[in-house]
Amino acid sequence: MNNVEKLISEQEILKKVEEIGKKITDDFKDESVTIVSVLKGSFIFTADLVRFIKSPVEIAFIAASSYGASTVSSGELKIRYDIDIPVKGQTVILVEDIVDTGLTISRLKEYLYELGAKDVKICTIFDKPDRREKQVTIDYCGFVIPNEFVVGYGLDYNNKYRNLRNLCKITI
Ligand code: 5GP
Repeated sequence: MNNVEKLISEQEILKKVEEIGKKITDDFKDESVTIVSVLKGSFIFTADLVRFIKSPVEIAFIAASSYGASTVSSGELKIRYDIDIPVKGQTVILVEDIVDTGLTISRLKEYLYELGAKDVKICTIFDKPDRREKQVTIDYCGFVIPNEFVVGYGLDYNNKYRNLRNLCKITI
């Protein structure tokens, strides 16, 4: 049994998600944006965030693996499930659960530009900058957190703990 310890409460997270949603609404007003949610970790964040965005949004999902069952990033990106709507000429907001080394999100950003996106913004609820390998501009960031392995609010350890309502640190 792993030990989990609360780092950020559900209430604090939701307050921040509302702020990000308002900021995106202010930035885009009536302009349409395509939200590309990075599965699986950002499914809860995406569901909360899009309900705070008042601009017209289309929502697509993408799954890319970089971690496997380990807690150390492999740095390799494989697209396992691709978006099902065109992004050519669109403004895209890539919605991530957490940016760690930055490799996954920067490669996904490149990929969306290759598909013809006009502009790609990055939005993450958690940012762990200590282990950054690839410099990446985060346009919308929830919380900067220390270099701990975290679970909850959609994030897993071996596919478990995604349903925890708070963000927790896990001792493995
Ligand atoms: P990066 O490519 O930035 O190193 O890694 C991004 C991905 O690694 C995230 O989308 C997430 O799936 C995973 N990841 C990085 N840090 C953590 C963490 O602390 N907890 C969990 N559950 N996943 C993490």
